[in-house]
Formats: sequence, C-alpha cells, structure tokens
Amino acid sequence: MIIEFDPAIEAFKREVAAAFQSLQRPEWLSLDPECEAYLAHGRQMDLNLIERGWYTLHWPREYGGGTTDAFMRHAALRELEGYFRVPTFGGHGRYIVGPALIEFGTPEQKATYLPPIARGETVICLGFTEPNAGSDLAAMELKATRQGDYFVANGSKLYITYGHYATSMLLAARTDASQKRHGGVSLFLMDMDLPGVTVNHLPCLTGHMVNEVHLQDVHIPASALLGEPNRGFYHMATALNFERSGLDLPAKYMAQLEDVAEYARQTGLWRRSSIREAVGRLAAYLEAWRMVCWRVVMLQARGEVPTWEASMAQLYRKDFNPQFGKLLLEVVGPQCLIERGDPRAVLAGRVEWYLRESFNNHGQGGRFVTRNVIARRGLNLPRD
Ligand SMILES: Cc1cc2nc3c(=O)[nH]c(=O)nc-3n(C[C@H](O)[C@H](O)[C@H](O)COP(=O)(O)OP(=O)(O)OC[C@H]3O[C@@H](n4cnc5c(N)ncnc54)[C@H](O)[C@@H]3O)c2cc1C
Repeated sequence: MIIEFDPAIEAFKREVAAAFQSLQRPEWLSLDPECEAYLAHGRQMDLNLIERGWYTLHWPREYGGGTTDAFMRHAALRELEGYFRVPTFGGHGRYIVGPALIEFGTPEQKATYLPPIARGETVICLGFTEPNAGSDLAAMELKATRQGDYFVANGSKLYITYGHYATSMLLAARTDASQKRHGGVSLFLMDMDLPGVTVNHLPCLTGHMVNEVHLQDVHIPASALLGEPNRGFYHMATALNFERSGLDLPAKYMAQLEDVAEYARQTGLWRRSSIREAVGRLAAYLEAWRMVCWRVVMLQARGEVPTWEASMAQLYRKDFNPQFGKLLLEVVGPQCLIERGDPRAVLAGRVEWYLRESFNNHGQGGRFVTRNVIARRGLNLPRD
C-alpha cells in the first residue's frame, strides 16, 4: 500500500526533514538519555520547533495552533520527530495536557497553563499508575479530599516517566470514595513543587529513569481540578486519545534498523543471506505497523475515536521489540553489550542502547491486556 499525501503536506514533510537534518548531530544519538547534555539538546530542539511554529501546530488557531490541515501536518511532524529521534520533553504538555485543557479546561486554566506549555517551559508527567493499579487502573486508591479551597491528597504513584524533572503532574485521584472503580476519580494539574510531594528515582534496565511519587497531605488548590469532578476517568481516556497513533515509534525503529543494516554492510555481514532476510522482514513489519498508525490518524481526522485500532499499533511495538533485540544479537553478537564511552562499543554505543530499549515492553499495559482490548472491541469476542 502506498500512502499519498496532499502536495502541501509533502512540501511540509520535506521542509521538516531538511530542518531536522540540518539540526541533527550524530553524537546526540549516543548520549545517555538522562545526562545533562541530552536534556539541553532536548530543550534546544523544543525551542527550534517553537521558533518554526511547529510545536503546537495541532492546537486550534486561537491557542497558537496552525492551519486547517494542521492535523495531518502534526502527524507528519510526529513521524519525522521519530525518524530523526528528536527528544520531546514537552510531549505530554503539547500532545496530551494542552489539548485536554483546550477541550475541558476553564478559561482561567487555559490562560494560566497553555502559554507556558506552548513556550516549552513546562515538563508534565502523567500520574496514573499506582502500586496496586497498573493494567487495572480502576483499582486506583490515591485519595484527594476536599477541604475548603483545597483538595488534600495522600497516596503514591509508580513508574512515573519524567517525574524527576517535571514541573507539573496530570494527577488522577479518587475524590469520592462512595463511587467504585471508574467513578469517583478526578483529574488535577498539580505543581510538583508543592509541599508533601516526594520523588524517588527508579532506574530502568532500559537506561531511562522512572519514579515513585509519594503525596503526603499535599494541598492542591481546587482551581487545579481539570474537568468535571468524579469524571476524571473519562477525561483521562479523552486526554490520552489525543495522542493515540504513536507514529513516531515505527519511524524511530526504522532509523535504528537502517543504522544496524549500515553496520552490517560496513563489516561484510551483509553478505549473509540470513541477515539480509531478517533486516528485510523487520523493515516490512515496520511498514505494516506504520500503516496501522496512519489508520489511527485517519480515523481521528474524521472525528472518530480509535480504540482497538490504537491497541493494534501498541501491539506492533510490543511484538517488534524482542525481534529487534534478537537481530541485534545476531548481527553484532556479544559486543552489543559494550556501553557508550568504551572504544570497542559498536556504533558509538548506540547498539547497546537499542538492545536495552528492546526490553521496554511493559509500559501502557502488558501485551495480554492489549490483546484483550483488540479481542473484545475489535473482534467482539466475549470477556470470558
Ligand atoms: C518504562 C515505563 C514507563 C512508564 N511511565 C508511566 C507514566 O509516565 N505514568 C504512569 O501513570 N504509568 C507509567 N508506567 C506504568 C505502566 O503504564 C504500567 O506498568 C502498565 O500499565 C502495567 O501495569 P503494572 O506494571 O502494574 O503491571 P500489571 O498490571 O501488574 O501486569 C503484569 C503482567 O500481568 C498481565 N496482566 C495484567 N492484567 C491482565 C489481564 N486482565 N489479563 C491478562 N494479563 C494481564 C500484564 O499483561 C503484564 O504482563 C510506565 C511503565 C514503564 C515500564
């Protein structure tokens, strides 16, 4: 299948690709994602996008967004951000919280939060998972109890990406204990520097940092309540739907696969038909995944809400990772394990990083949970 874009979108893609090509430095690809230089690079890339008017082009025009075909431009931009491996620290703000504020924020909240998000000044983390609520988020226990002008929050969130440098958290908390499961949960945009917020780092095998975030008697101003009280679960689903396609991911892995194929060519390994075949198979897989992502974009462009289609895109990732890890071991062998900084590291240590990333298969729910969503919603199979 060949996707053809409108000529204006094709021209936009060429413009973005040329810009990323000129901004990209190969050494950035080998940086530790938690080091200061990588963070500085990410911030600089955010500023570059802002300067070009691309950072929030998917927002409505009155909030600093772009043209009528902004939705497709945004999708094309996401794909290229993935291919050029642009760090997106402001991602949760510009892709999830910004659109959520535009949809159900008060005028005061829009005036307070949208401008700093659009200027790349905020890093927002998502506070949903808890020690006893992962795949089954409706089991969430963290409480926020109304006391005058505040909600007083107590409890813990777990595995929070960006928690160690986020300025705010989109927090889901139980505000009505009498309602069970999906009812009685509200969303807040909580400042991370409020007294009573403690962040403990949990380094992942993948090289990323996630965090435990503990809240003890944290007084969250009632003005930080986002959307209707006790409807947070539904708002959360809407907010996450704004960024469902995951188009950046197959593009990112295609760039990594090209990197490994180039290494195989340079080392003569490309002569082995088993390696050419494995690379070809994965390239075809990535193209199929990309098509599923574009299908999600097309549904959203028509105003439909993708459910199982977005889960299919997620499943592609979960099934790709172990296959890519296997290919790396086949092509590079034990040298895969040599980290950046060591002169023997392959591709300046990028391969070791790719291998670590191939273990990253657990976020956004396990593979079986994703398959269950597809079975129930896509294939109409019974729950049991
Ligand atoms: C790198 C990383 C970053 C993350 N970032 C964030 C973040 O920023 N914010 C946030 O809120 N959360 C974040 N998470 C949490 C993530 O969303 C959860 O890990 C995920 O939802 C799974 O929850 P869990 O870890 O409790 O696993 P569990 O829910 O305990 O699942 C464990 C295993 O059991 C299986 N399983 C569970 N239920 C079922 C079922 N009903 N049927 C069949 N199999 C089942 C799962 O597939 C999985 O294999 C992150 C996680 C990771 C790994």
